[in-house]
Amino acid sequence: MIDETHDPALPCWVPEAAGHPDFPIQNLPLGIFSPPGGTPRGGVAIGGYILDLGACHAAGLLDGLAEAAIDLTLDALLTQGVAARRALRSAVSRLLSGPSQPALLHRATECSVHLPMSVGDYTDFYAGIHHATNVGRLLRADVPLTPNYKWMPLGYHGRASTVRPSGAPLRRPNGQRKRATDAEPSFGPSRNLDYELELGIWIGTGHATDAPMPIGEAASHIAGFCLLNDWSARDIQGWEYQPLGPFLGKSFFTTISPWIVTPEALAPFRAAQPTRPTDDPQPLPYLWDEADQAGGALGLTLEIWIRTAAMRAAGMPPHRLARSSALDLYWTPAQLVAHHASNGCNLRSGDLLGSGTISSATQGSEGSLLELTRGGREPFALAGGESRRFLEDGDEVTLTGHAVRDGFATIGFGPCVGTVLSAA
Ligand code: MN
Repeated sequence: MIDETHDPALPCWVPEAAGHPDFPIQNLPLGIFSPPGGTPRGGVAIGGYILDLGACHAAGLLDGLAEAAIDLTLDALLTQGVAARRALRSAVSRLLSGPSQPALLHRATECSVHLPMSVGDYTDFYAGIHHATNVGRLLRADVPLTPNYKWMPLGYHGRASTVRPSGAPLRRPNGQRKRATDAEPSFGPSRNLDYELELGIWIGTGHATDAPMPIGEAASHIAGFCLLNDWSARDIQGWEYQPLGPFLGKSFFTTISPWIVTPEALAPFRAAQPTRPTDDPQPLPYLWDEADQAGGALGLTLEIWIRTAAMRAAGMPPHRLARSSALDLYWTPAQLVAHHASNGCNLRSGDLLGSGTISSATQGSEGSLLELTRGGREPFALAGGESRRFLEDGDEVTLTGHAVRDGFATIGFGPCVGTVLSAA
């Protein structure tokens, strides 16, 4: 639903919020942050600042709607669902477009950010069809997609304990590695460390064990979206994944952008799910909803940037590795949620779902180095003369994502950054 909070002419008293590439007043994403010397609390990113929801509530502002945000996570707030989210969004929009109240703000650069929800469980899907095709081609040139791919969203249960907010450094994992030419595996630092560009989906309202979830209700369980980097050790993964799937090659670290961009903020950027080729199977009824097909996809432009230690030392800007579109997901977020709940497994407030790596069909849109360098065989040249097959220690990888539409203010997720540290 598009309302007055999306008005591109809405004034805002926060310095430089107007025209901010990620966080103008039309976005109002929610997160958990600590101000200098303070404890974690709920906040709203606005321009280069954070609106302190705890301070708002203490001052009697926002009609009591921020009370549930005075907690270590946003679970209590976001489990209330769409009506509470929309009411808080309207109240924050009115506050930030009314008289100036700078005491409610903190400079974002002086604050630390935390995970916005509890992440009791994390599931990673595989819904980026060009990624699945590109990777499948490396393994099975003739039949890149497995027979189940177009029938249901594929996924695996990831590791929740190592999900971290943007800025947290990741250590190169150790593990069993075995090259094609090696007779036996060895234990040591991964040689083939990679990133994966994904969209994260936050579950706001949970779902009971054994309860049916009609696909028409699935979107109402989504509290919002973030960027997600599913760091992957390709050598560890390649040796361990058969027959049970991803394990230690994935579980060492996952980075998310810390601000939850709500479905309400993204309302102007909803899009029809691209029409399936006529040869593709019609999804089973539990995955099919006409309204979801008509407006359940998201028009988002996603980018990956790298800055190596040498580039930082030389004062060079990041180099863009790829740009893709969230419209290249084969399944909508609602289809992922409905499929997840379809076997009777409950979903809980604060659960995190990854979309799967998002690549588009064209060169320059590869969402992982595995695709960009054809499994490490073709090094990718960087500005400054370096090249990469896989990530080196000191590499800083940043994901960005933006929603753009004529007649509306551009909004974004803010950066999702991680820098590679040497193995322990
Ligand atoms: Mn992944």
